[in-house]
Amino acid sequence: MRARRPVVGGNWKCNPEKAADLDGLIANIQACDTSKCDVYVCPSPLHVSYCTGKFSNGAEVTPQNCNFKGCGAFTGEMAVEQMKDMGISQVLIGHSERRGEFGIFPMDDNTTLATKLKYILDAGMSCVFCIGEPKEIREKGLDAVLEEMHVQMTQIYDLLDPAKVVIAYEPVWAIGTGLTATPEDAQATHKGIRDLIAKHASASVAEGIRIQYGGSANAANAPDLSAQPDIDGFLVGGASLKPEFAEIVKAIS
Ligand code: PEP
Repeated sequence: MRARRPVVGGNWKCNPEKAADLDGLIANIQACDTSKCDVYVCPSPLHVSYCTGKFSNGAEVTPQNCNFKGCGAFTGEMAVEQMKDMGISQVLIGHSERRGEFGIFPMDDNTTLATKLKYILDAGMSCVFCIGEPKEIREKGLDAVLEEMHVQMTQIYDLLDPAKVVIAYEPVWAIGTGLTATPEDAQATHKGIRDLIAKHASASVAEGIRIQYGGSANAANAPDLSAQPDIDGFLVGGASLKPEFAEIVKAIS
């Protein structure tokens, strides 16, 4: 019996190129059995509107980013007020590709992300909040990784409502690389993150909050990863563009 209801998200990033391919991707998400697992999907901003209202299995459309405050003179941004108006109730923030890990979009630092999270929660929305360490830190060992996770969470500990926030732990070196943390390494890090939350928020928040693993998750590695007690689901990039996504959901259900 799982301690927490699992949750699996599909991050389509800046895909597909052709809107004509959206229906096929939507079908992959619609094929997921959501009776024992929450499912969400993060379409590109251009495709959010098309995907909204398409999932009779309850999969939640979850935009990949949002502004740090409401509507107005913010060219290129998306406000949660606009999302709510479209019936969207959850947004993902802090993906490493937006934290500037790859030298692109160097805009989402820890302070901005804390501002965004507060804004999202104040608006009554839910949030998937991504954290993760680059390779240079992983190479120093688990203590260094957890020190970095503490830095990334310091400003959000008091915002961690388990009913509203999911943490997606995504080691940056595992994203899109085909490298996956071993189940033991991933479990140790998830447990360490949960312990940090227990220390700096509370034991009940730590016990209740769901922590997803992300980084080259697929149908082959999902069963072993999902057997770990502190892994509550996956955030999936590449494999969320394939029918395989439903197998990942099945593995953790
Ligand atoms: C991601 O981008 O969130 C991700 C985990 O990607 P991938 O599964 O392709 O590594």
